[in-house]
Amino acid sequence: MTQPADNRVRSIVIVGGGTAGWMTAAALASRLDGLGCEITLVESAEIGTVGVGEATLPNIRAFNRMLGIDEAELMARTSATIKLGIEFCDWGQVGDSYIHPFGDFGDAIGAADFHQYWLQQRDAENTKDFGDYCLAIRAAKAGRFDLPAPNPASRRHAFAYAFQFDASLYGAFLADYAQARGVQRIEGKITDARCDGETGFVRSVMLEDGRKMEGDLWIDCSGFRGLLIEQHLQTGYDDWSEYLWSNRAWAVPCETVAPVHPYTRATAREAGWQWRIPLQHRVGNGLVYCDRYIDDQAAVDLLMANLEGEALADPKQLFFKTGKRRKLWNRNVVAIGLSGGFLEPLESTSIDLIQNGIMNLIELFPGRECAEGDAGEYNRLMDLEFGRVRDFLMLHYAANQREEDDMWREYREMELPDSLQAKIDAFRQRGLVPQYANGLFQPPSWLSVFIGQNIFPESYDPRAETIPEKNLSAHFVEIDADLEKLVAAMPEHREFIETYGAAFDAGAVGMPAQ
Ligand SMILES: Cc1cc2nc3c(=O)[nH]c(=O)nc-3n(C[C@H](O)[C@H](O)[C@H](O)COP(=O)(O)OP(=O)(O)OC[C@H]3O[C@@H](n4cnc5c(N)ncnc54)[C@H](O)[C@@H]3O)c2cc1C
Repeated sequence: MTQPADNRVRSIVIVGGGTAGWMTAAALASRLDGLGCEITLVESAEIGTVGVGEATLPNIRAFNRMLGIDEAELMARTSATIKLGIEFCDWGQVGDSYIHPFGDFGDAIGAADFHQYWLQQRDAENTKDFGDYCLAIRAAKAGRFDLPAPNPASRRHAFAYAFQFDASLYGAFLADYAQARGVQRIEGKITDARCDGETGFVRSVMLEDGRKMEGDLWIDCSGFRGLLIEQHLQTGYDDWSEYLWSNRAWAVPCETVAPVHPYTRATAREAGWQWRIPLQHRVGNGLVYCDRYIDDQAAVDLLMANLEGEALADPKQLFFKTGKRRKLWNRNVVAIGLSGGFLEPLESTSIDLIQNGIMNLIELFPGRECAEGDAGEYNRLMDLEFGRVRDFLMLHYAANQREEDDMWREYREMELPDSLQAKIDAFRQRGLVPQYANGLFQPPSWLSVFIGQNIFPESYDPRAETIPEKNLSAHFVEIDADLEKLVAAMPEHREFIETYGAAFDAGAVGMPAQ
């Protein structure tokens, strides 16, 4: 069976040239090659992009691989460093710290999951912290990195990595890629859109200079304003600010002074949290906060007082409302990126959600009539993913033990959505963690936050008793010693970058020795 010729999408217009717009353009140009579909991207230099977003998740590597991008070249072009996870400082009690790694904890020892054996043994004399049984955490703390081993049987296979990069350079890189594959770029500001009176489908847009653009399928990547999905289609927004209260941020880059860690840091502050993202040539910093608990001036002062080096620009303020569009695909418009929704950047999920939106669109690529079934399935998948991310972010706040500040105390008293409460209850009872077939976040992520923020189960899986204590203890000692050896054999993070994907002479410019 084939698509009837008159139902084929012949033209796609992508509105916006931020990270979302160019990721979409590059992926569609690569995946739809041969369909005879014209792809145009319109962007406005006058409006510009949001200009933040530096930390990514490991899935981005699959996206780059799909496009056939050389990773070392990408790292050099985007001034990227390696990210093995996120360090959370002061989220449990003040002074606590833990890493949410991109990797597994321990080994498959027997019938139960590794953490169940650890729970059983956690008070034993030789048992170490849970994080000490994770290679990604050990390497991150040591400031070392090497590519994972390809052989799944190797312990050096059990982790992944992502990048800390300059997202605007990533956009520029993908813009070159997409245009080389036929995407047409138009510079101009859209001032109006025309919809079909019967179907409500967007048919054309008008640019400020009088030009008119037409299209069959529209991808709204216009940022927070949601130019087509909201301003024209009035799709509506699921406001989740009752769950995640942060609504503003200040962002500022600074000089590199401290070691360039292969991980991002998120430090809890009195009314929010501060990020530190080290790139090759500078460090990205920002404070995400809720204006009910701290005013803008106090927030920017707090950020500037906690920079490790000289600020390299004036701080920039950003405003947002946590949530998502009621439908990310409405009629013939698909919202990808900030136009579709935003959840604070605590777990670096925005670019991943962009990728998720793009991959779902490619899987469900419609005919020109944009069948309701395609849109419905797309919206179901995206709702699920946004909801899971929301719950995971909320866990960090709900499980805090900070005593000093009102915001943190009130977060502890907040009523949680059933979907999250059920996950916490299941872990508290006997250490069960949610496992999804696809998507964010998998068991090691949940475990790292539960245990990192001092949530411990009352009991453990009875199958953890099947291995005699002596054998278990010997096994833990063996893993610990092996991980130590594996980390010691890795190059320093700085050395790895210099030989793999240095943007320039990193040592001379910004990267002090570890
Ligand atoms: C404080 C903060 C920190 C963040 N940190 C991270 C992070 O660490 N990791 C992560 O994954 N994500 C992060 N994000 C999210 C990330 O910045 C965005 O997901 C990403 O940049 C994509 O943005 P976008 O392309 O959707 O929108 P934008 O960058 O805003 O781009 C919008 C585009 O639409 C165009 N446009 C708008 N209106 C018109 C018009 N009328 N006519 C023509 N063109 C128009 C603009 O010119 C621009 O090209 C962060 C976001 C914030 C707010």
